[in-house]
Amino acid sequence: MVSTNISADHATTGLVTAEVSRAERISQSFVRVTVTGDALADWRHLGFDQWLRLALPIAEGTRFDQLSDRFDTKGYLRYLTLPKATRPVIRSLTVRNFRPEQRELDIDFVAHGAEGFAGPWAASLPVGATVGLIDQGCGFAAQNARHVRIAGEETALPAVLGVLRDLPADTTGDAIIEISDPSDRQPVAAPSGVRVHWITRAATSRPGAEALAALRSLGSEGLDDPGFQAFIIGEQHLASGGRKHLVNELSVPKAQVKFCGYWRKR
Ligand SMILES: Cc1cc2nc3c(=O)[nH]c(=O)nc-3n(C[C@H](O)[C@H](O)[C@H](O)COP(=O)(O)OP(=O)(O)OC[C@H]3O[C@@H](n4cnc5c(N)ncnc54)[C@H](O)[C@@H]3O)c2cc1C
Repeated sequence: MVSTNISADHATTGLVTAEVSRAERISQSFVRVTVTGDALADWRHLGFDQWLRLALPIAEGTRFDQLSDRFDTKGYLRYLTLPKATRPVIRSLTVRNFRPEQRELDIDFVAHGAEGFAGPWAASLPVGATVGLIDQGCGFAAQNARHVRIAGEETALPAVLGVLRDLPADTTGDAIIEISDPSDRQPVAAPSGVRVHWITRAATSRPGAEALAALRSLGSEGLDDPGFQAFIIGEQHLASGGRKHLVNELSVPKAQVKFCGYWRKR
């Protein structure tokens, strides 16, 4: 089980179905999947790291109509009762871009190899596939942040870039983004006072380990600002290690550190 203190905010839009209109390998590790549909007219766009439960088709006969509108505990238990042959696979992803006029939403998937379902599915460039989206809100909608410290590896890149794009323009701080290949770097829109540190990890490093080391090397400057907020996300060791560093070693109040293990390296 991965750990987190971010909560889901279940939108009234419920389950929205859409179709994959484009899928493109945008860099060594990333595939951008664009979904389109009239149902996205009512999509609640929040920006920052807004995330969703994405229901993916496993076969021709995959049924989306039996899913609950909310993927809370009740919705999850209901999901488990559905026949395995026709229920979709569900994974957590981040909204990379939303274009309301076109009713289009982009999701950047890490194509991490043959293991699992979402990564290989995205890598197959599944244009025409139907998917279901259940909005979960934001983990770090830090509209009032004055000083930030953010760290993540590539699964967190969409969230980190979304947060940087939407922070108040006078925010200061540091954002660390660890990637596995230089081509994975994307253009950044960030407040001018936030230093963005890109790290391309060595092939021998565990995902997230170099981002955690970089976070530790930043020290304690600015952490006593009452407007300080941290967001540490990505592979489980980075998320939990980053939280421990800030809370236990640097005495940042727990409420000012949001963290989420996005996945666990086995
Ligand atoms: C709130 C939230 C937002 C997220 N947003 C995104 C996003 O925008 N883009 C994105 O790509 N991911 C995102 N993730 C992470 C994503 O949900 C996981 O990586 C998920 O495990 C991928 O599912 P899968 O079916 O490919 O692999 P799974 O079936 O879950 O796992 C199969 C195997 O693959 C390994 N694995 C899983 N992910 C990776 C990886 N990235 N690199 C290497 N090995 C891996 C697992 O350790 C396991 O051994 C997010 C997670 C959360 C909680």
